Amino acid sequence: MEKFYLKGRDEVLSSLDVDSNQGLTSQEAQARLEKYGPNELQEKKGKSFFAKLIDQLLDPMVIILLAAATLSAFSGDKIETVIILAIVVLNAGLSLFQEGKAEDSVKALQQMSAPNAKVYRDGKLTQIPARELVPGDIVVLETGDIVPADLRLIESQNLSSDESSLTGESVPVDKDAEIIFDKDTEIGDRSNYVHSSSIITRGRAKAVVAKTGHDTEIGKIATNIQSSENESSPLQGKLNKLSKSLALLVIAVSIIVFIVGLFREDLDWLQSLMTAVSLAVAAIPEGLAAVVTIVLSIGMNRMAQNNAIVKKLLAVETLGTTTFIASDKTGTLTQNEMTVKTIYTSSKDYTIDGVGYEPEGDIKFDGQAVDPVNDKDLKVLLTAASLNSDAKLNHTGNKWEIMGDPTEGALITVAEKAKLNNEELNEMLKRVKEYPFDSTRKMMTTFHENFFEDAYVAFTKGAPDIVIDRCNHILINGKVEKLTESLKDEILNKNSEYAKQALRVLAISMKKWENLPDDQDPDKVESDLVFIGLVGMIDPARPETKEAIKHCKTAGITPVMITGDYLETAIAIGKDLGIAESDDQAIMGKELNDMTPEQIREIVKVKRIFARVSPENKVQIVTALKENNQITAMTGDGVNDAPAIKKADIGIAMGITGTDVAKNTAEVILTDDNFATIVKAVEEGRVIYSNIKKFVSFLLSCNIGEVLIMLVAMLVGWPIPLTVIQLLWLNLVTDSFPALALGVEPGEPDIMNQPPRKTDDQIIDRNLVDNIATQAIAIAVATLAAFYISFTYLYPINGVEAALREININKAETIAFATLVLSELLRSFSARSEKYTVYELGIFSNKSLVYAFIGSTLLTLAVIYIPFMQVIFHSHAFGLKDWAIVLPFAFLPFVVGEIHKLVERKFFRNK
Ligand code: ATP
Repeated sequence: MEKFYLKGRDEVLSSLDVDSNQGLTSQEAQARLEKYGPNELQEKKGKSFFAKLIDQLLDPMVIILLAAATLSAFSGDKIETVIILAIVVLNAGLSLFQEGKAEDSVKALQQMSAPNAKVYRDGKLTQIPARELVPGDIVVLETGDIVPADLRLIESQNLSSDESSLTGESVPVDKDAEIIFDKDTEIGDRSNYVHSSSIITRGRAKAVVAKTGHDTEIGKIATNIQSSENESSPLQGKLNKLSKSLALLVIAVSIIVFIVGLFREDLDWLQSLMTAVSLAVAAIPEGLAAVVTIVLSIGMNRMAQNNAIVKKLLAVETLGTTTFIASDKTGTLTQNEMTVKTIYTSSKDYTIDGVGYEPEGDIKFDGQAVDPVNDKDLKVLLTAASLNSDAKLNHTGNKWEIMGDPTEGALITVAEKAKLNNEELNEMLKRVKEYPFDSTRKMMTTFHENFFEDAYVAFTKGAPDIVIDRCNHILINGKVEKLTESLKDEILNKNSEYAKQALRVLAISMKKWENLPDDQDPDKVESDLVFIGLVGMIDPARPETKEAIKHCKTAGITPVMITGDYLETAIAIGKDLGIAESDDQAIMGKELNDMTPEQIREIVKVKRIFARVSPENKVQIVTALKENNQITAMTGDGVNDAPAIKKADIGIAMGITGTDVAKNTAEVILTDDNFATIVKAVEEGRVIYSNIKKFVSFLLSCNIGEVLIMLVAMLVGWPIPLTVIQLLWLNLVTDSFPALALGVEPGEPDIMNQPPRKTDDQIIDRNLVDNIATQAIAIAVATLAAFYISFTYLYPINGVEAALREININKAETIAFATLVLSELLRSFSARSEKYTVYELGIFSNKSLVYAFIGSTLLTLAVIYIPFMQVIFHSHAFGLKDWAIVLPFAFLPFVVGEIHKLVERKFFRNK
């Protein structure tokens, strides 16, 4: 193994055969990818197929079915035995398949949120998935990146990385490309090297990939890194528990039925046992767990299509309960497309024409275009602004775009408007050192040569209040003068004047340095500055934000703005968007610093705008909201936001501007960074939960209805209305389609006009129990009535010879079966809403349900009319008079369901 940390930079580059400015070509990268394999650690495999199969076999339903098959074999019914066994196999296969599909779709979503790496390929800086990195790739690292492979640094500025995942050492270590070792060192001391999976906590660097995948240090110790497990959601847990308790209850009832059967003269013990087993089969909601998983994963996919990647099933459920959305301003509520509109230097106020990043437009003073070449202060300001920025301005097609931070893009653009080209400036006044921007410091400093003849210049730009605080001089007409208190007041007034116009304001300053400082701590360097000027840029609100905020409010969700920006800018935008009504709903982050947790808990009840917020403030806010029992969704992008994202009930990271660390910590990633997407995801979460409630109610009422049918028939001494196979067919085939279709209901029209669900709400609440009970009774009454009329009047069983009796029972059974299937299918339409009638929802507005109805009805007709199906199901072809009994009874549960809603609405809900 080559030890790259022991070699000099040039030696490493030549041994990896790469030019650090060009990177590899695509062909070279492809060849190396084939040689070294993808840059990933082997994921621990999930359960083996065999283990999954054993799980399936231990399912109570399977055990009961195997018992039924054994009994059928005993009673000599070969067809039934084979069919039941076939169902066991089919059901196990189907469950494994569905589980596999749900797992695949979750994996695909996780792939979408997999980290990228910024690399030079074919001489250009691009982004590629980190798994495609190969040794020799030239990578660019920034604060917040998760190091994608083991890298030898080529250039580094003020770099430090947190290597705790590898060394356990939680204090970040300083890194430096210049260092060369003459003897072997421990991992933690290899400071010219950064290791895969550590986090860049500060600075910027260029590095060459030395090792990938298993060859990395982390790869060597953890070849079996577990992929992030998709824990089941609390709802799935609750439903699993419910299914289990139901199974136990059913077994108890079945035992009673068996004992009653023993006392009946017309049944022998085998028939009684078979009936008891049938009852158990009838009662267990086989499809429930599978349908829940499928519906949740369909929901995840739907959210992903709407730009919200949900990494855990759990979050789908929690989203629906959100009561607070605490959102960043820049880029989430606003477009993050900045344009400089105003500039202020030593008492001069300029306005700038033009929109977006097109470098066209005049810089005007007093309404007249000025030539910056003749305006010393303006020229220095624009030079500093451009040199102190890392964004790149590109002209692609006929569009001007920027790569990098939009704030900096706007600065480069305004300099271009004055014919100060960023690349030319950088060539003339080369950057030799820097202290990159970080949102805690709210500043950035770069050092350049050649600005002064025999000294370096440092330009610092950042939040005005902070920068001005560090200035003691000011540039006036090219001369450095003392910054008097009155001049300072004038600048601060100008700053608030700009901020009140919703402009984002930056201050720009400079300082002369004889020698480059070797201090790692920017605090010591960014002081005694010379103020140059202010720049005010506009960042228009996203057009859809206002609507989304209104939506939030009607849905009982409180939107809150949390921003690093200036208080007055935040208030201007917050009021415009409808987040706050008055100025006193805003507070500065630093005011929270001196408050007790109790005080902060009170503050978060009334404040809607938090300005100048530090990452620690974010944690304070989210903690207070949680202690107030609010379910909080919080957005974040920076490396320092990770604790707040983690603390929130729903941590949301920005897909475009977010760092790897933020994305890694979050439960949800917004691929468009848009606030409106969060609101849409919350709505989707609510719809999914209410849909789950709908099919739970549907499936349980059907199962309980079936139990009642079997129980009543047994107790009153009637023939047994349904065979095991009929019950299985019902539960596994005809009921599952409508249940799935209910799972993709479009959602009730007023779902966002209701207050959020409480987290401790039981899925089976009073209303649901009511519904299940009435529907189960209606289903049982309809089926038993149809059955009774059939075996009493249509196909009498009393006073006829044994063979005919047998046939008539089968005919009556077929009628009971058809009534039951159809009543359940029709009832599924009524299950679409707890309060709106089908007429109000629109009969055809859930197309899947219409198809499920047609499909299941055709299957039922097949059972009745196709001869070989008749043999299996002991069914008989129907005539008109049979339908005359089936149809009216089949509508009964549906009609009861609809009337139930109207009565509920009239008497119990004020609607
Ligand atoms: P939000 O938190 O809503 O995204 P924000 O972008 O203002 O808003 P930060 O990115 O934390 O939050 O920035 C904090 C402050 O730092 C900004 O208000 C601005 O004054 C200053 N700032 C932002 N970007 C830069 C930069 N590239 N260089 C120097 N200063 C910056």
